[in-house]
Amino acid sequence: MTQTQGKPPLEPINVALFVGLPLITLIAVPAWGFAVGYASWQWLLAVLFLYLNGLSITAGYHRLWAHRAYRAHPGLKLFFALWGAGALQNSTLVWVSDHRRHHRHVDDADLDPYAASRGLWFSHMGWMLRRYKSNEEDFSNAGDLQQDPIVVWQHRHYVLLTTGMNAGLPLAIGWWAGDIIGSLLLIGLLRLVVNHHVTFFINSLAHYWGSQPYSDENSSRDNHLLAFLTYGEGYHNFHHIFQSDYRNGVRWYQWDPSKWLIGACRWLGLAHDLKRIPGFKIQRALLGMQFKQAQMKLDNTAAAEPLRTSLEHELQLFAESVGRWKSLQAERYERTVGELEGALEERKRLLREKWQQAAIRTHLKELEYSLRMQRKRVQLLMLQMQAVQM
Ligand SMILES: [Zn+2]
Ligand SMILES: [Zn+2]
Repeated sequence: MTQTQGKPPLEPINVALFVGLPLITLIAVPAWGFAVGYASWQWLLAVLFLYLNGLSITAGYHRLWAHRAYRAHPGLKLFFALWGAGALQNSTLVWVSDHRRHHRHVDDADLDPYAASRGLWFSHMGWMLRRYKSNEEDFSNAGDLQQDPIVVWQHRHYVLLTTGMNAGLPLAIGWWAGDIIGSLLLIGLLRLVVNHHVTFFINSLAHYWGSQPYSDENSSRDNHLLAFLTYGEGYHNFHHIFQSDYRNGVRWYQWDPSKWLIGACRWLGLAHDLKRIPGFKIQRALLGMQFKQAQMKLDNTAAAEPLRTSLEHELQLFAESVGRWKSLQAERYERTVGELEGALEERKRLLREKWQQAAIRTHLKELEYSLRMQRKRVQLLMLQMQAVQM
């Protein structure tokens, strides 16, 4: 048995898949390209399949099954199960149980299966190449998926499905079009290897490179370039704090084809119950981080008494807004319960309840807006601190 000092034994199938296949790709794809060449339809199909695989992992495995950020029609689930198997990243059940452990124990070297704290290489693909204890199969956190017939079916027939999607399909296309080797190399191999590494970036680079606008409690980062490469999963700092939101790129302009796909599926009636984190909570996280940074800046600023007073005042306003928001939420919940219990009472009372609910919603929106404005003021304060420092 191959065993490096102190390291667990190698996982031979994974070494063949994640080291052997990229090596063959690196040599064979350009060699065939120079010797014979590829047709444009082969490139187009390779890119199309790349997106179908990638989006099935991000919108399917990740947001639907791992985080239950929305509910999907069985037809859509079947689509994700097939194209997700084609991504060759294990069955949904295995993938989801690993990923839920990653969120629960993020950065913990013993419990997070791809802990970024163990290094860039480990979190990218090293974690799959050896039999690490942190990566032992354990479905105790995925009981819900063991009740999902499509997930169970995919898990049972995973080897057949992934072989069919990765080798069978390109082979059939190549046979039909008269270029089996070219199709296997481009639509089969190159597409697979590229998709592997861009998806692995989410566990590696998205925990190293980028900004932390929402939280610095863990290593996750937001990064526009990674979002572009990873079908929208590069807003990973947002995702780690608000994992149940069906979006990772929460702003309308942030590149997140997975959220657009889920939105389009809702429009087609294939997805429903899309979860969104309330805007206030998002603003609260952003402002919380800003206060942290402002406090650090202030500590390094000499003779800044007026700035300190202003910051303390802003912090007090922030605490008041958060308190007010919490009590409004509680009031809203009580009213909803009251409304249900009194469903048989007169119509007039229900209308009044509805009006009061709308008033609470308006107050909540106003509070969200006040935090947005406060962020601008704190930004200005930080600029002033910078000016004092210089
Ligand atoms: Zn992560
Ligand atoms: Zn996640």
